[in-house]
Amino acid sequence: MVEHNVSNIQTQKIENTALENNCAAVLSIADTVRTTLGPKGLDKLLVDELGNRFITNDGATIMLSIKTIHPVAKMVVEIADRQEAKSGDGTTTAVVLAAEMLKEGKRLITDMGIHPTLIVRGMEIGIQRSIELLKQMAVKIDIEDARLAQVITTAAGSRMDGDQVVSLVSEAVSLLKNSKGKKRMINFKKSILLINKPELEDLVFDGFVLQRQFHDPQISNQLHNVGVILAKMDLKESRESWTMEMKNYDDVVRMKENQARITKEISDSICRTGAGILFISSPQVDELLLSNLLVKNILPIHVSNEELLTIAYAFDMQVIRRKEDIERGTVVTIKSMCYDEEKGLFFFENLAQQNVVTIIIGGATKVTSQERWRSVKDGISAAQSALNDGIVAGGGAVELCISEKLKEKSLNGGVESLGIEVVAHALSSIMRQILTNAGFSAFEKMTEIRNKSGEYGININTGKIENMLEAGVIDSAGIKINALKSAAEIVKAVLRIDRILIAHSPHNAVVGKSANEPNLKG
Ligand code: ADP
Ligand code: MG
Repeated sequence: MVEHNVSNIQTQKIENTALENNCAAVLSIADTVRTTLGPKGLDKLLVDELGNRFITNDGATIMLSIKTIHPVAKMVVEIADRQEAKSGDGTTTAVVLAAEMLKEGKRLITDMGIHPTLIVRGMEIGIQRSIELLKQMAVKIDIEDARLAQVITTAAGSRMDGDQVVSLVSEAVSLLKNSKGKKRMINFKKSILLINKPELEDLVFDGFVLQRQFHDPQISNQLHNVGVILAKMDLKESRESWTMEMKNYDDVVRMKENQARITKEISDSICRTGAGILFISSPQVDELLLSNLLVKNILPIHVSNEELLTIAYAFDMQVIRRKEDIERGTVVTIKSMCYDEEKGLFFFENLAQQNVVTIIIGGATKVTSQERWRSVKDGISAAQSALNDGIVAGGGAVELCISEKLKEKSLNGGVESLGIEVVAHALSSIMRQILTNAGFSAFEKMTEIRNKSGEYGININTGKIENMLEAGVIDSAGIKINALKSAAEIVKAVLRIDRILIAHSPHNAVVGKSANEPNLKG
């Protein structure tokens, strides 16, 4: 560790029991997931209050399943939540970074008496510099680049059924790659749909799959080159209670006639579009309308709002929102529709220019199917992020290299150097943790690697020092940037807390205080 001349830094001892407590809480949570980092990370057995057990080594699942009541430890769970939502991978990395920054920051505050604001200021510089370096070192790739497959393997290959999971994701990516619908940027997260069904075999389907129980002998289970329309409209039927409230019999008759006329107009308009399938999102749909459509060989399928948006994106369609627009809306032709009654699945197959793919993820049990689902999701997220933000050497190599560069900067001294060192320390901990989890002596191996360029690290699969980009151990730069940002944000907040106070909820605010005035009780 670099020795700093801190004599010129104004130091101040602060009451630090809260910091000690908060750190202990954060570290105990972080310690439960840090041993899962990397391809040889160990599994955890989770048991819920009903006695359900499942085994996982997915950082996000573990963090989000932990029942924690410590308010600051909850902030770390928030890191996992945020990283998962933003990047879909890199959760353990984010938590390890946070724990190491906090440990080092706390050491500087308690052992050296440095004021937290000085450390926070230095950390901000360190984080900003690390992000700049990550962006500079990131290599841009496109969908044709063979390294995209290596990103998927690095993210998902070492997990449960790694080879199968990687081949599912790679097949989905290559279907999208070969699609002729290149008029818009492919977004894997939107274009690859996941269905988690333990009782089924794994399948990659070139199209959109919808889970529905449906039975109508009148409608064929298979349609070819069929037109599809998409509507989100109010298609409620008149309710019995409304008609009962109407005292006047003539009014009731007129209302019913009116309703029947509108229903007929709608079904005639739908029929004139030439579509064979109507996806409809409406809280209730008039039974008369449904039977009118079925008589005309149009299959109405109820979908949720979320499904409606997915279909609209998948087939690049507009959603019809008013009955006047039905005939002006787009009818998109798909290659086929096939209903598998036994599985309860509709398969809508793409024409060449459409780009949506569905991966059905099976598994021996519900638990294994979920674990495989998470690995598939990690592979897809990593691939998307690699296309957006470029690739970097994995295995903690890029982090170690940036850590060394930050240390060179912090050697120049100044009040910020200590905070920059906090970030540098945390970055080097990623390789250390991956190596420790794989049973290597991290200190020895890392000393050897420090003398090489930023692309070198230990390939855990071979145990050798290798150029990680050449060895195919490749990560996305974007996931690392997000992990650093979310970890630093929480650590900065925790380091600045010097007391925890019990607050009234805003609803119980003392009369006479303004709504914005804090109402705290020591
Ligand atoms: P996270 O939840 O942060 O994604 P993972 O357990 O998925 O954690 O581990 C990801 C880390 O493992 C990345 O830094 C990645 O580069 C590294 N990794 C993956 N495969 C290898 C390998 N063969 N050798 C060394 N490191 C690897
Ligand atoms: Mg991962």
